Amino acid sequence: MGSTVKSSENPSSTSGRAVLDEAGGTAPRVLVVEDEPGIAGFVRRGLLFEGFAVEVATEGRAALTAVRDNPPDLVVMDIMLPGIDGMEITRRVRAAEAAERRPPIPILMLTARDAVPDRVGGLEAGADDYLVKPFAFDELLARIRALLRRSRATVDAAATPTNVLRFDDLALDLGGRTVSRGERTVQLTTREFELLTFFLRNPNQVLPRQLVMARIWGEDFYGDSNVLEVFVGNLRRALEAAGEPRLIQTVRGVGYVLRVVS
Ligand code: CA
Repeated sequence: MGSTVKSSENPSSTSGRAVLDEAGGTAPRVLVVEDEPGIAGFVRRGLLFEGFAVEVATEGRAALTAVRDNPPDLVVMDIMLPGIDGMEITRRVRAAEAAERRPPIPILMLTARDAVPDRVGGLEAGADDYLVKPFAFDELLARIRALLRRSRATVDAAATPTNVLRFDDLALDLGGRTVSRGERTVQLTTREFELLTFFLRNPNQVLPRQLVMARIWGEDFYGDSNVLEVFVGNLRRALEAAGEPRLIQTVRGVGYVLRVVS
């Protein structure tokens, strides 16, 4: 068996079980799916040093088993893997989450080339963000922390009283982190949920693409318009899966608007 999942480790732990961080919470658990020992080791050591609990899966089956049996707080997913590749793993993870109505785990995809098809494919498969190899560890760490902050914010929101944003037959519950159109439940990834929240907070207003990009992804993604198109495309597919009318309209040359078109 070439496949391995290294058990959870942390420098401040000898038990190998859940580790407490300085704030008294549980250390975030990261699953690194990477077959190249050099990169897996580099990422694992760096994250352990930063106080994360880390597991490494070197191929797809081990990764899917790890996500199912012991869901991590975040996955770092390489695309090029022996057997099932990172995009297919991501698709299967998202499908399982949707089927079991579990909140999506943030997935940061590693792409070997700065190739647009790879990046777009990864995001279409359900990844939340991507990083091009070779990358600096600090950049990886910044992306991981940003994704964890976002997903934790949605968990924190779940502890507050119900706060539902509505537009037409669309309802987004910030507390329960659920979205529905009419009676139908809509499953969204963390970023899609944020994007829809932003639209719902600014209904009937034309939102320039640069503004949306900056609000959802930060200044890093300025000018990289493909990413926004992919996410809006995914969001529309999810919102229109049962043939519902389009609510997120394209304003050509400007951006998007949440509007009922009769
Ligand atoms: Ca690889």
